[in-house]
Amino acid sequence: MVNKNSSHGQKIAVVGGGIIGLCIALKLQLEGGDVTIFDKRGAGEGCSKGNAGHFATEQVFPLATPALLPQLPKMLLSSTSPVSIRFQDIHKTSPWMVRFLLKARKQPTEHATKALTSLNEVAMDSWFKLLEQIGLKHLIVMNGSLLTFESEALFNGYRPTIKALKQQGVSCHVWDKELIRAKVPNLTHSVNFGVFFPETGHSLNPYRLCLELASSFAQKGGSWVQEQVEDAFFDGELGVVLTDKESHSFDKVVIATGAESSKLVNKMTGVKVPLQAERGYHLMVPKLKDCLPFPVSSADRKFIMTPMDEGLRLAGTVEYASIDSPPNMKRASMLKDLAKGLLNTDCQPEDGGDKWVGNRPSLPDSLPVIDSREGGRILLAFGHQHLGLTQAAITADLISELNSASKTSLDISPFALSRFC
Ligand SMILES: Cc1cc2nc3c(=O)[nH]c(=O)nc-3n(C[C@H](O)[C@H](O)[C@H](O)COP(=O)(O)OP(=O)(O)OC[C@H]3O[C@@H](n4cnc5c(N)ncnc54)[C@H](O)[C@@H]3O)c2cc1C
Repeated sequence: MVNKNSSHGQKIAVVGGGIIGLCIALKLQLEGGDVTIFDKRGAGEGCSKGNAGHFATEQVFPLATPALLPQLPKMLLSSTSPVSIRFQDIHKTSPWMVRFLLKARKQPTEHATKALTSLNEVAMDSWFKLLEQIGLKHLIVMNGSLLTFESEALFNGYRPTIKALKQQGVSCHVWDKELIRAKVPNLTHSVNFGVFFPETGHSLNPYRLCLELASSFAQKGGSWVQEQVEDAFFDGELGVVLTDKESHSFDKVVIATGAESSKLVNKMTGVKVPLQAERGYHLMVPKLKDCLPFPVSSADRKFIMTPMDEGLRLAGTVEYASIDSPPNMKRASMLKDLAKGLLNTDCQPEDGGDKWVGNRPSLPDSLPVIDSREGGRILLAFGHQHLGLTQAAITADLISELNSASKTSLDISPFALSRFC
């Protein structure tokens, strides 16, 4: 007989095979669940494919903060700005933008900071526990990361943030110019200050990480159905997942469909979730593979450079657009110019390089939805914005706890779906 309060023997459908769905599927499978992943594409083919690979546990502040407000109009109006709105989509994105701006106040910022900190402070433990069980611990490199400052005024403006980070328990050290030179010789002399985060890590290949998780899942008997899920519902005790091809029956259904979650969640729960595709880009520079020892981001230029096995990945920029609008690959090319100014002459990015766009699943308060409905038969895990890679394994732990109806190891009330009811 199926135990309603344990994964063991349960038939579980996980919709979405990105980093969030993959970690959840593996976790529930390791607990004895009979798990099937449904994805209309392959493993990690969505936003999880080309991200910056940074396990960014230091990013404990939401995106909308009081400090952002005065900067935002100038940012949004400049075509080369790191943050932009696609004008053709403004009628679709502006309601989300209003909700986002309303969160840029002291109380919501403090609320979101506390909630993000609670996830990030245990995020790496969760990752290593999961990867250890499947022999893939080597896929995360814990070398730390560096945030650089060229402008002294910008660094001085960041000093209160350093204090606030320390108050949240984030380990960080200020580096002066000489220390930066010694540790990262390939940065230009224009870099005057740095903040080093020793407890962060990076992936040498976020897509390979997804493929390795999927392969481990398959080796353990997990099933993969490459179909588009149109709906999922319960007919009495029977859970039904309806795809574009056929219907499948399950005991429980997990929704982890990233930036495309709102339609399904609305059908299944009646709740309209304000989910926005926050598009970001990357440019891969193969020649610069060994140029940096760890991810280096720039506070002035607002992008990140991560050393990976196929090159130096330049990533970032935020573009608010409809999920189905054509990408603006000029924003990926723009990353090369940003990097040129930050790297010394021996380390300049060449022309060309693989360009990529992805849709970050973002909610106005910068918090994901991690919740359950229908007495725990529907489990929800989406909306991880800039931090999906970082928070995937802890999300899987919390979904497993919700699935077994045990008390969750941290307060998940900030991640409740009901905040949008
Ligand atoms: C440029 C950039 C840099 C980033 N850098 C970082 C970083 O350094 N660190 C970090 O932590 N995060 C980073 N992120 C964010 C991170 O990549 C995302 O938060 C994360 O990938 C979201 O994972 P997901 O599994 O929720 O979504 P996805 O990876 O998009 O997966 C969702 C899956 O669901 C499937 N799907 C959707 N709808 C359906 C349906 N109806 N039926 C079947 N399948 C469906 C899709 O095909 C897809 O495979 C970055 C993002 C971008 C764009």
